[in-house]
Amino acid sequence: MSAIDAVIVAAGRGTRAATVGGLPKQYVGLAGRPVLSRTLDVFLVHPRIRHVVVLIHPDDRGRYDSAVAASRAGWDANASARLLPPATGGATRQASVLSGLETIAAAAGVDDSCCGVLIHDAARPFVSHEVIDRVIEAIAPGTGAIAAVPLADTLKRVDSGVIVETVARDALWRAQTPQGFPLADILTHHRNAAAAGHAEFTDDAAIAEWAGLAVRAVEGSVENVKLTTSADIAAAERKLSGVVMTTNGIEVRHGTGFDVHKFAPGTSLWLCGVEIAHEATLLGHSDADVALHALTDAILGAISDGDIGQHFPPSDPQWKGAASDLFLADAGRRVRERGGSITNVDVTILCEVPKIGPHREAMRARIGEILGLEAGRIGVKATTTEGLGFTGRREGIAAMASATVTLPSRSLA
Ligand code: MG
Repeated sequence: MSAIDAVIVAAGRGTRAATVGGLPKQYVGLAGRPVLSRTLDVFLVHPRIRHVVVLIHPDDRGRYDSAVAASRAGWDANASARLLPPATGGATRQASVLSGLETIAAAAGVDDSCCGVLIHDAARPFVSHEVIDRVIEAIAPGTGAIAAVPLADTLKRVDSGVIVETVARDALWRAQTPQGFPLADILTHHRNAAAAGHAEFTDDAAIAEWAGLAVRAVEGSVENVKLTTSADIAAAERKLSGVVMTTNGIEVRHGTGFDVHKFAPGTSLWLCGVEIAHEATLLGHSDADVALHALTDAILGAISDGDIGQHFPPSDPQWKGAASDLFLADAGRRVRERGGSITNVDVTILCEVPKIGPHREAMRARIGEILGLEAGRIGVKATTTEGLGFTGRREGIAAMASATVTLPSRSLA
């Protein structure tokens, strides 16, 4: 097929999906842009697609225009020219597709036997050019093709909550879109189905089967999901936000912290909750435990909850001389409050003196006590700065820290 056009079906009202904010799912914002806008991008920049028409509900013209406007800045003149004016969909998906096929046929010339057409759900914005190419390549005279994926799950037939049988899944595939056909063939079959009063077909391959047109299943993609429920939308949002997710809805977050305190006359100082005899102390409003301060900020950073100075202002006399344990314990409490947990923490102390090595295990043990974390998840390291800078001149101690936290995704603000 040398000429390929595309029909994007966006006329549904989202009655099955929980609409989000009252919007049909194809118009819901996904990382700042409507779903339809993302789907259009994929098709309009595909080099082999000639025309694209979107089927919309008559009430959605304003939403459609907004979705197009959200994308248009990223299209070149060629892509913009490929987009035909939207067509009005019908009462069912099947009626909408027929309307789209008529529109494409009027624009393209249905007698052009070299024409193929792709039919795609607007709510599948993650379709790739590779999947589209595979469908296009498989369309041939007298043959359609759809993207599909083999079933991975074992299938059970269930009656009243009880399994009746296990259904062999060997030959079962899940149908996706795009579904591609010779334009003249699928238009004829759609017209015939409508004329015969058949309105029950849920996809175009089903009409092709009904009409006896061969349809090949080509490899789709598990990424090519149809956004159907608000949970699907939320998952897609996380995916586009680039957050690291495990499969059970836990989000992995990372935070960093940094702090400096200067030396003052004294006989001991606190580092990582451990008092170390030294020829100087560290100056600060609290006990000046520079390492615990950096670590507290790292944890607060991972949960996007301000910093130590915000929660424990130095201007507040009640924190004068306070043991920094309580700052760190408070950060740990804030993680637990969100249903999260700390995966690991890591502290680097930058100083010429005192020597940290002899105290490392005591420091790890103390941090573990404060946070309720096993030692295997706690790193404490030290380095000099080779005599350079304020730490090299022994004017003070700096500390850096990082923390990794897992949060249930529902706790995200
Ligand atoms: Mg500090």
